[in-house]
Amino acid sequence: MNYDVVVVGAGPVGSTAARFAAMNGASVLLLEEHASIGSPVECTGLLSTRAVSECGITPSDEFVLNDVRGAFIYSPNGSCLPIDGGKTKAYAVSRKMFDRRLAAMATEAGADILLRTKAIGLETGPTVQKLEVLQKGLRKTITASVVIGADGVQGNISKMAGLGNVEKVLSGIQVEAPYASKDNDFVELFLGSPAPGFFAWTVPLNDRISRIGLAIPAGTDTPSIKYLNSLLNSNPHVSKRYGGGSLDLVIGGIPLGPLKRTVSEGIMIVGDAAGQVKPTSGGGVYTGAVCAKIAGEVAAFAANEGDASSIRLNDYETRWHERLGRELGIGMKIHEYIGGLKDVEVDDLLTSMNTPGILNMITEYGDMDRPSVFIKKLLSPTNSLRMLNVFRTFARTVL
Ligand SMILES: Cc1cc2nc3c(=O)[nH]c(=O)nc-3n(C[C@H](O)[C@H](O)[C@H](O)COP(=O)(O)OP(=O)(O)OC[C@H]3O[C@@H](n4cnc5c(N)ncnc54)[C@H](O)[C@@H]3O)c2cc1C
Repeated sequence: MNYDVVVVGAGPVGSTAARFAAMNGASVLLLEEHASIGSPVECTGLLSTRAVSECGITPSDEFVLNDVRGAFIYSPNGSCLPIDGGKTKAYAVSRKMFDRRLAAMATEAGADILLRTKAIGLETGPTVQKLEVLQKGLRKTITASVVIGADGVQGNISKMAGLGNVEKVLSGIQVEAPYASKDNDFVELFLGSPAPGFFAWTVPLNDRISRIGLAIPAGTDTPSIKYLNSLLNSNPHVSKRYGGGSLDLVIGGIPLGPLKRTVSEGIMIVGDAAGQVKPTSGGGVYTGAVCAKIAGEVAAFAANEGDASSIRLNDYETRWHERLGRELGIGMKIHEYIGGLKDVEVDDLLTSMNTPGILNMITEYGDMDRPSVFIKKLLSPTNSLRMLNVFRTFARTVL
């Protein structure tokens, strides 16, 4: 088997990269180790309206389960900061159906898909890449001009290509469970001790079922399941709404902070595998789609020109850095700042934000894909001294 471009991993990012490579004239093969696209799911499925549009899909009942307009953000002391976006800002989706739509779009653009095919070895060169795969128990070799590693947080194409792995990974856990949500249009976020170092969430699918989960830094002494049990059964707000039991359990890693290099001879790494994830939310579909489109296009042009050198493929790295590099960098600083606050400091921060002026500003400038826009507004000298005081350390770090 010989292709211009082989994409390893048929998640949303791999399917998008395959589609864009095919749309730009390349012969494309998309490999997926599982027998089925979109399963198992390792996601809450909360996608901003921008993320869905970046993937080139019109929101539809095929995959949208609920529209989300805002968030209730809870302090460790139980007080609530209500953020109302005023209109639909995000969708709670079925990732299974969403991923399948994207894979179908890749095939419609001309890409071939092989399921139950796992990439297990890689030999790279300036013009030909040899990918060793295990297909239904048989070893085979596939050749390509360019290999795109879209194999997720546990992927190993980047390691095989000498690009290493993402350094920081959060451990995420979530159940889909009976839950009487306060308002179906709003997600709930819990900062501080319910999930130290990140946050916990509830995402309503309807007024009876929500996805309830959290993430903490991997390697934390207390396992994530203990925090989840405590959230479900002891958190005063959640426990009185939680109906008991669960319909689905999701466990997965969330990579934070991009790889230093995402390109080598004949290879590009994209999506979770490259750490292209928003550090403030753990969401990787929007950022992954932005990068996948660039990767697919560059791979097709490079294959067509017969030049898969790292110098040619570097175009991908330059372009994705231009689109997202600064935002991911600021996002990482926000993540580290908020994640390092003590409970009393989180209480103080959220209390100081609970003013009509700040809440209006969030409605106007809040953007789950681009938190830097709001942060810049927040730090403007026209805001209250108290606000600036709370943000003093953060301002010193970011500016
Ligand atoms: C608990 C949790 C909640 C999350 N919630 C959200 C959210 O609400 N919104 C959001 O935007 N993001 C969320 N994310 C992150 C999101 O799931 C990822 O960013 C997104 O799935 C990344 O897409 P991807 O295509 O890069 O990787 P993946 O979706 O992981 O796809 C990688 C694919 O590669 C395949 N693969 C791996 N190795 C090989 C191999 N050797 N050969 C062949 N195939 C291989 C895998 O089977 C998989 O199908 C969440 C993550 C977790 C863990």
